[in-house]
Amino acid sequence: MSREWSYDAVVVGAGPAGSAVAILLAEHGHSVLLLDKAAFPRPKLCGEYLSPEASRILDRLGALKTVDEAGAVPLRGMRITAPDGTVLEGDYPTEGRYRGYRDHALALRRPDFDSILVARAKALPVDVRERHRVEDLLIEEDRVVGVRVVPADGRAFEIRSPLVIGADGRQSVVARRLGLVGAHALRRLALVAYVEGVGGFDGRGEIYVDPPDYAILNPVAAGIVNLSLVVPLEHAAPYAGKLDAFFLARLKQLDHLRPRLLGMRPLGPVGALGPLAYRVARPRHGGVLLVGDAAGFYDPFTGEGVYTALRSAELAAEVARRALAGGDCSANALAAFWCGRREAFRDKERLTRLLQVVIRRRWLANLVAHRLARRPDLLTLLMGVIGDSVPPRVLLFPRLLFGRPGS
Ligand SMILES: Cc1cc2nc3c(=O)[nH]c(=O)nc-3n(C[C@H](O)[C@H](O)[C@H](O)COP(=O)(O)OP(=O)(O)OC[C@H]3O[C@@H](n4cnc5c(N)ncnc54)[C@H](O)[C@@H]3O)c2cc1C
Repeated sequence: MSREWSYDAVVVGAGPAGSAVAILLAEHGHSVLLLDKAAFPRPKLCGEYLSPEASRILDRLGALKTVDEAGAVPLRGMRITAPDGTVLEGDYPTEGRYRGYRDHALALRRPDFDSILVARAKALPVDVRERHRVEDLLIEEDRVVGVRVVPADGRAFEIRSPLVIGADGRQSVVARRLGLVGAHALRRLALVAYVEGVGGFDGRGEIYVDPPDYAILNPVAAGIVNLSLVVPLEHAAPYAGKLDAFFLARLKQLDHLRPRLLGMRPLGPVGALGPLAYRVARPRHGGVLLVGDAAGFYDPFTGEGVYTALRSAELAAEVARRALAGGDCSANALAAFWCGRREAFRDKERLTRLLQVVIRRRWLANLVAHRLARRPDLLTLLMGVIGDSVPPRVLLFPRLLFGRPGS
């Protein structure tokens, strides 16, 4: 490695994607600088559901035990209510070839969860610097060769590295500086709040589909529920500045959710985020990878954002290790990451797009709910796909639906 480099890799953003890739590279002996503009614990607007397969990667990162000890709530499945009130009680596969790493998902507040991963990175030889904002990339010809950093004291400095990994989320400076971010046709807004006074959970999260909206209830701690509502962006736009009132009024329009919220008390202000979906193109420059939300986001309905962040970090670490060992971080050498990423997520992305078509049409959502109510095996498969233990092609190719599930 050239002596001019300060670190083998600079990771921008210490959320789940950034912390995970930093941990994996450090475990293989690489020198890593992990930068975040925030200090942890920091707030993060999220439904706070962790898919069962996320546990596999958390275990590999040495963080699962701490996540359990932090009081993560196990969720054996989802209770899904269709627009006409049809209720589906779907559980993750517990046996057979599609059983996941665990048979339950987890719910844990993001400030706690993200801090666990950052602490894990700090326990390794990773140079973790909080309150350090990356404001620009250093680019030479067709290569990213480092970052310009502004710490809390305002004294900016530059760091050179053969590999910069953008894990800086939906506002990614890395992706923006390379001109990779584009708008998405799906324009929705999420409103999220912690609430209390909503009991009666049966070990499952709850989803209420009521087009054009949907709402999700996740019990994230004793007596505390994460309540997320997703609505078309244009419906919320006139209420800018009055989103708390809009949130409460809109929730009342979801007929089957309304009775669940009779004793509800918000525990703080409502957080809002939109538009949720955006596209990110593959970089043409060498010396750079994008993981987690920095590489794009669609919709939180199937709750795989954190799993995707962790899995893309695994894929990135593997390719980065090979590239660093070979002393070649050119775009060509890093191309394997983008192929692996497409392979890993393509089918799930197709399925989530299909589900969006369903949940935006009342008649179709009801029709699918009736079908699933009659086919508990299909519902379990769908839960497995959502939980990332069942390959989505099982549901995308109908002929496979007639095989014996779980065998
Ligand atoms: C409403 C909503 C609900 C969701 N619900 C779920 C859910 O229930 N389950 C699920 O799995 N996923 C969910 N997601 C998706 C999930 O939150 C994200 O996919 C996940 O947080 C991505 O992790 P990340 O590490 O890529 O990014 P982030 O968690 O956003 O972390 C990025 C980090 O980069 C830092 N950063 C940003 N810019 C800079 C900079 N210039 N310099 C230095 N640091 C910087 C930030 O401070 C941050 O710490 C939801 C998303 C939304 C919007």
